[in-house]
Amino acid sequence: MSPPTDGSDVYAAASKNQNVPSPRPAPFPSHIHLPGLRPGLDREHAATTHPSPPHRTTFPRARGRFPSPRAADLPSLSPCKPRPRPPATMVLTVAATAADTAEPLNSTFFATRYVRDQLPRYRMPENSIPKEAAYQIISDELMLDGNPRLNLASFVTTWMEPEVGKLIMDSVNKNYVDMDEYPVTTELQNRCVNMIAHLFNAPIKEEETAIGVATVGSSEAIMLAGLAFKRKWANKRKEEGKPYDKPNIVTGANVQVCWEKFARYFEVELKEVKLTEGYYVMDPLKAVEMVDENTICVAAILGSTLTGEYEDVKLLNDLLVEKNKKTGFNVPIHVDAASGGFIAPFLHPELEWDFRLPLVKSINVSGHKYGLVYPGVGWVIWRSKDDLPEELIFHINYLGTDQPTFTLNFSKGASQIIAQYYQLIRLGFEGYKHIMENCQANATALREGLEATGRFDILSKEDGVPLVAIRLKDSSKFSVFDISENLRRFGWIVPAYTMPADAEHVAVLRVVIREDFNRSLSQRLLADINRVVQELDAHAVHAIKMTTAIATQTGEGAEDGAVTKKSVLDIEKEFAEACKDLVKNKKTGPC
Ligand SMILES: *Cc1c(COP(=O)(O)O)cnc(C)c1O
Repeated sequence: MSPPTDGSDVYAAASKNQNVPSPRPAPFPSHIHLPGLRPGLDREHAATTHPSPPHRTTFPRARGRFPSPRAADLPSLSPCKPRPRPPATMVLTVAATAADTAEPLNSTFFATRYVRDQLPRYRMPENSIPKEAAYQIISDELMLDGNPRLNLASFVTTWMEPEVGKLIMDSVNKNYVDMDEYPVTTELQNRCVNMIAHLFNAPIKEEETAIGVATVGSSEAIMLAGLAFKRKWANKRKEEGKPYDKPNIVTGANVQVCWEKFARYFEVELKEVKLTEGYYVMDPLKAVEMVDENTICVAAILGSTLTGEYEDVKLLNDLLVEKNKKTGFNVPIHVDAASGGFIAPFLHPELEWDFRLPLVKSINVSGHKYGLVYPGVGWVIWRSKDDLPEELIFHINYLGTDQPTFTLNFSKGASQIIAQYYQLIRLGFEGYKHIMENCQANATALREGLEATGRFDILSKEDGVPLVAIRLKDSSKFSVFDISENLRRFGWIVPAYTMPADAEHVAVLRVVIREDFNRSLSQRLLADINRVVQELDAHAVHAIKMTTAIATQTGEGAEDGAVTKKSVLDIEKEFAEACKDLVKNKKTGPC
């Protein structure tokens, strides 16, 4: 066999030198392999010994071009005939010869053959590829994703202990819905529901089972809670002989997008209390004013996504009790505690926001936010059985015994539920409290550092979700969007966004502090923000000078010496206007 002419594509080169009997290669028999051999190793070649040294040193260097590989270039493998088992040492020697054993060599060769071609994007490819190549190709492309640990945009957990990683992988093949087949998993879910219900002060007895369910996240939890309210309200209206075709929910304009989804998908009007500059959560007074006979619930947020601030659920409850009494309505409250549900009970146990308030009928919380589990788990808890209409619960028996289910999905992974149970028993109240205190302390340190720069106003509150939301005191030269974009250079992902109505003109930069964000990272972030601000300052001055120079040169403006001054002022104004437009048009929201 003559050596291939192009060492840069070993796979194709070696394949060319083989006899390819049919235009279409046989499927890659990766499931059949001899002990001691890598899958796909041609047994014929494997049985032959060669004295050559390892391929990397013997392979000829590239010279000249070699045609691009095509599917037909794949070596066809000889049909599987039983052969004597080659000793392991022989295999090692054999694998060292490139030309004869191109297949196995290349499967470990940094996906050599596959990196040249466009990867499949629209149609499933005709042929299989070795598993190593598939892995390499995908993991390489994923390198271009941001680093989750530096993603300060998200509340969602990015670090867990390795032990729980093992539990997750051990149960990754379990379907949550097969309750009869995996009764222990179901039992763990129920234990989580009980523990969370107690954490939220549900009026249940010590040994009583709480009413709730694991969901994919708070969004699904909110859909379920919303459906329960809608059905309960409709039933009552029907009983009273009143129309039930115009349900509405009252919320603040700061609600997370899942409420808007619920409203649109399930045809409920969302009546939003507008925000004002300086007050970025729902005003309970205004909310209660908006309540009418068609209001299925008022949704309060414990930990606004935008600023982390807790809404005053107690005041809302008290005002609504009064309104209900006066009007004969029966409007309940749902608390969206997606992030605050796993913070307030530990940091502010005296704060009354949960089932201690009589009108709070259901609460959702994201297990994958401060519940400290990787993405894919949320919880919804109802105050009592009466708050979950029986007709929404389905009973299925085709997987075994009778199973009540109330979820939007059917099949889903069980790992995250198991991981949630791990966190609850591993950390206990003490552990969660400790972690939340750390997050709070890190948020405070970052806030103080940012305040000290003198460039920012702080919008987040100390006793809310541990995050720092800031706006620029002066955004005439650059905006928070510029800061956000420039921080990417250092790897930081810090989102900038504008507030909802009626505070759209306020543009905010937000840093969420999670368990895995430590003090030294916080100090580096602070240093990088400072650096970016200084650079932007310098750049803005430079830009203004340049434009002024051009204006002067081209003789724009008055003929006297005032030309430069006037231009600077004009340009500054224009710059500010452009920034405002940018803020208006930029629609990147927080998650
Ligand atoms: C994150 C969040 C949601 C959505 O939760 P997911 O778990 O991501 O579905 C809803 N409401 C608030 C207040 C949130 O912060």
